[in-house]
Amino acid sequence: MTTTPIDLCVVGGGLAGLSAALRAAELGLKPVVLEQSAEQHYLCNSRMSSCVFHLASTNVLSPPAELERAVQAATQGTAHPGLVRALAGNAERAVRWLQGQGVRFIKGSAAAYHNFVVAPPATHKEGPFDIVGRGGDVLLRTLEAALAKAGGSIRRGVSARELLVRDGRCHGVLADAGGAQERIEARAVLIADGGFQANPELLREYGISPDPARVVQRNAGSGRGEGLRMAIAAGARTSGMLGFYGHVLCRDALSSDRLWPYPWLDLVAGAGMAVGPDGRRFADESRGGVYLANRMAALPDPASAIAIFDQAIWDGPGAAFLNPPNPRLPDHGGTVVTADTIEQLAGQLGLPAEALADEVRRHNAAVAAGGLDRLVPPRSQGPLAPQPIATAPFYGVPVAAGITHTMGGIAIDEHARAQHAGGAVFAGLYAAGSATGGVEGGEHAGYVGGLVKACVTGLLAAEHLAAEGGT
Ligand SMILES: Cc1cc2nc3c(=O)[nH]c(=O)nc-3n(C[C@H](O)[C@H](O)[C@H](O)COP(=O)(O)OP(=O)(O)OC[C@H]3O[C@@H](n4cnc5c(N)ncnc54)[C@H](O)[C@@H]3O)c2cc1C
Repeated sequence: MTTTPIDLCVVGGGLAGLSAALRAAELGLKPVVLEQSAEQHYLCNSRMSSCVFHLASTNVLSPPAELERAVQAATQGTAHPGLVRALAGNAERAVRWLQGQGVRFIKGSAAAYHNFVVAPPATHKEGPFDIVGRGGDVLLRTLEAALAKAGGSIRRGVSARELLVRDGRCHGVLADAGGAQERIEARAVLIADGGFQANPELLREYGISPDPARVVQRNAGSGRGEGLRMAIAAGARTSGMLGFYGHVLCRDALSSDRLWPYPWLDLVAGAGMAVGPDGRRFADESRGGVYLANRMAALPDPASAIAIFDQAIWDGPGAAFLNPPNPRLPDHGGTVVTADTIEQLAGQLGLPAEALADEVRRHNAAVAAGGLDRLVPPRSQGPLAPQPIATAPFYGVPVAAGITHTMGGIAIDEHARAQHAGGAVFAGLYAAGSATGGVEGGEHAGYVGGLVKACVTGLLAAEHLAAEGGT
């Protein structure tokens, strides 16, 4: 066993971990980053991401009060107010800080919240692993180079396994370094392991899905909830464990890497409808793809739903946004079923024809004459407006929930400090990025964006530790 005295031991080399480590080094602290993967370009969600820096789909240059409102609206007022204020008040500073490290941003589309996209942009044209030299890969390489310049480094192939806690204060970790156990002492530990989306047992335990094997892993596979497990074992509090960020994907993405992370079917399912094997709707599609993916994941079979729409929707929302399903889905081998009538479509999809035709009739009547709120289940007014399913040919795409990252995790305050189960601050323990809970999560699964959250919480943790001095 060896002992390494350091200020901040960071668990995880994604954006949250590297932001914290680099900021700590800038402030004169000695950080070390432990990264479980031994690969040079280790896969993590930050490296795989599309690298759009936004807060609740709002331009990060918006006034903080507007950003706060956007986060509270996305999360239906359930987010921790102090955390929301911290994210909103530091979102612009975070992208400016990244620019100061040499990260270049471009405008990704005409949408206002696409104004900070890391250049050159990730395209995912050939699937999830088409990332080298773009987007998140460039982001992490830039930060790692800056960290090296500032005197820090990433220790690859070192997995944190257990928190060292004495008198209620965290003072390091026990880690596995290539099969050897290592005790790493530090003034403080930051957990930034990226969430628990790739841990089927935890997805089941926290009620996210009864059958995680039928949920598409729309992520790097590196977030297995080790940080959460260590924090709970040490007595830390969790928050908002239900809910994840994800999208509605083609069911074939369960077996084909050409069909994730794009295209999503959020917009076609939102304009049309999503039905279960009984031909009936089961969720409010108007609340958007993240919400719908959460409802799908909770079904007895998370890959049992079918998106139903028509030619007008396929040519409209189906061809809109980045990497749309029209034409990418059929081009990449995804199943798209078409028929001239709804009854024929039902026959080809193995759905009860009468039930599906009835459901489409009700949908069209509600769209034409109002009364979306009287549908079963009711449809809300937005953000995705329903359209009639009336222009042949009619379309059916078997879909599955795709999970990108969990929203719940270690409860933190506005300085990214973890808390004991009783609510008191957990001295010496911080958490950042997708390892944390308190912003999204819970019943409402409101997506606010993972990158701004990762960078801001990483910066805040480092700054708090530096300000705390040698205590
Ligand atoms: C396809 C895709 C597209 C996305 N697009 C966007 C987007 O455009 N905008 C946006 O805001 N968000 C986006 N996201 C989400 C965003 O990428 C994440 O929210 C964010 O990167 C999380 O950063 P993180 O540092 O918390 O976690 P990660 O980047 O996942 O990093 C965690 C790291 O911890 C390591 N680790 C895990 N356990 C241990 C352990 N025990 N010991 C040591 N190391 C460990 C992992 O190997 C990993 O490298 C996207 C995600 C994906 C997958």
